[in-house]
Order: sequence, then structure tokens, then C-alpha cells
Amino acid sequence: MSKIIIENSIVESNERINSNVYLLKVTSPEIASQIGVGQFCNIKVSDTDYPLLRRPLSICDVEDDKLFFLYQVVGVGTEILSRKMKGDRLNILGPLGNGFNIQDDFETAIIVAGGIGIAPFPFLIKKIMNKNIITYVGFKTKADIIDYGLKNCKYSTDDGSLDFKGTCVDLLKSEGKTLNSKCKIFACGPNSMLRNLKEFCSDKNITCEVSLESVMACGFGICQGCAVESKNDDNYKLVCKDGPVFNINEIKI
Ligand SMILES: Cc1cc2nc3c(=O)[nH]c(=O)nc-3n(C[C@H](O)[C@H](O)[C@H](O)COP(=O)(O)OP(=O)(O)OC[C@H]3O[C@@H](n4cnc5c(N)ncnc54)[C@H](O)[C@@H]3O)c2cc1C
Repeated sequence: MSKIIIENSIVESNERINSNVYLLKVTSPEIASQIGVGQFCNIKVSDTDYPLLRRPLSICDVEDDKLFFLYQVVGVGTEILSRKMKGDRLNILGPLGNGFNIQDDFETAIIVAGGIGIAPFPFLIKKIMNKNIITYVGFKTKADIIDYGLKNCKYSTDDGSLDFKGTCVDLLKSEGKTLNSKCKIFACGPNSMLRNLKEFCSDKNITCEVSLESVMACGFGICQGCAVESKNDDNYKLVCKDGPVFNINEIKI
């Protein structure tokens, strides 16, 4: 694990890209020079004690000394974050977590993302440009679509307002009949989606890494607040330290 850095970063922009999703760009040279694909940062969203806990966000992209985060406003912390403006300072802790393994011997990367689950993938895609990449991405409806940094996208919507009607895993199942063990799946999204994906991967014998998003506090293994059940040894793993990326067969989702 690389050294954890605490950096006072400067907001460059905080662009609203649909009704409740924002793309935050900050200058954070030390973390930007260290962070890897699939890792995350824990962000202090205010200068006061409220909210006390930092909020974890996946690294979405890195350009030179800039970090990008793609986030959905769901509660108090992300609402405060959405009001940050150019020049504001943010105290950021990172890089945290393990990240995706992109050294495996795979020919095609299949990315499966539900909604804001696309957040970790623009940076991943940048790092595996030499591979075939197909992205299956699902949203509730057409208005929720987030168009940032993906490649070879196939869309699904729950209500059928754009392209395939159903979930992104339904779409993968309908199109992925010829996929084989030369593919590797990278996924992020709600647990119901990941459970469905697990079945597909077992049937096809395809390696799959999932990035989990669970409620967490410290972000580096002290508070033990983000435990998930491990499948192999009947023990627990910490999403912040052992994850957030796990082999889909390693954990009970
Ligand atoms: C590794 C990781 C990566 C993530 N990446 C992204 C991303 O890229 N984009 C994105 O939109 N979302 C991401 N999320 C989810 C994001 O962190 C949450 O949506 C965000 O923290 C919500 O904060 P909030 O204050 O807006 O919402 P709220 O629902 O108000 O906050 C969450 C609530 O949980 C409480 N809480 C937090 N930790 C604990 C704890 N350990 N015990 C008890 N209560 C707790 C908070 O105090 C708060 O009340 C990620 C989560 C994880 C774990």
C-alpha cells in the first residue's frame, strides 16, 4: 500500500452534468502523482466539524496534477460538496484502497456500470487503451445519463427511454453469449446488480472485479465500519483497506 497523503487541494471547477451529478476537478499534485485505478479518496467537505466524517469518492480521472471526481448528490455531505466553487480549498485524504488489477492476461475488458457506478472507469479506460473495451452502462431513465470518459458504450434504461429496456446486466446477458475467459469484467453499481452479474460470470467462467461502495468513516482500516463478509474464509474484509475492489467470488454481496 502506498503512503497515505493529506493534501489541501484547490477546486478548479465543479460542473453540474445532470440534475444531481457533478464533476469536481481539483489541483492535488501529491495525490495525483500516486493514485492508481480503482482507488479512492476521503474528502472533508467542510471547514467546520459538521459533517464530522469525510466522504469517500472514487478517483474518476487524473490529468497531470489534477484529480477528477464524479459524484451524485444524495445527502448532506455531497450537497455541501456541490456548492464548492473555483478557488475553494478541500482537504483530501488519499490514495486509499487497493484498486483494479490490470496486469492480468485478458484481451477484452468488459465494463459494467450501474448509474453513478461509472465513476471509477474513465481512469481505468485510459490505462487499458491497448485492450478491446466494451462498456455496458445502465440508468433509470434517459435524463440520468452521464456522458464522461467512457468508450464503446452500450446503454440500458430501466424504463426503455433510451436503447435497451432493462438493466445493464440484462443487456450484457443478451449480447454477451460469446464472451469467454479471455475477457475480464470490471464492475461497479448497486449490490442487486452485482449479484446478478455474479451468476453470469460463474456461468461463463469469466474473472470479474467489483468495486464496492459502502458506508465508511475513516477510510483506512481503523474504525472497522465497512466490513463485508468474505466467502472464502468465513471472515470479514474491510471495503476501505482490503477493497474497495474485490474478486466477485471473494465476498458475499
Ligand atoms: C470506496 C467508495 C467510493 C465511492 N465513490 C463514489 C463516487 O465516485 N461517486 C459517488 O457519487 N459516490 C461514491 N461513493 C458513495 C459516496 O461516498 C456516498 O454517496 C456519500 O458518502 C454520501 O454522503 P452524503 O453525506 O451526501 O449522504 P448521507 O446519506 O447524508 O451520508 C451518508 C451518511 O452515512 C453516515 N455515515 C458515513 N459513514 C458512516 C459510518 N461509518 N457509520 C455510521 N454512519 C456513517 C454519514 O455520517 C451520513 O450521515 C463511494 C463510496 C465508497 C465507499
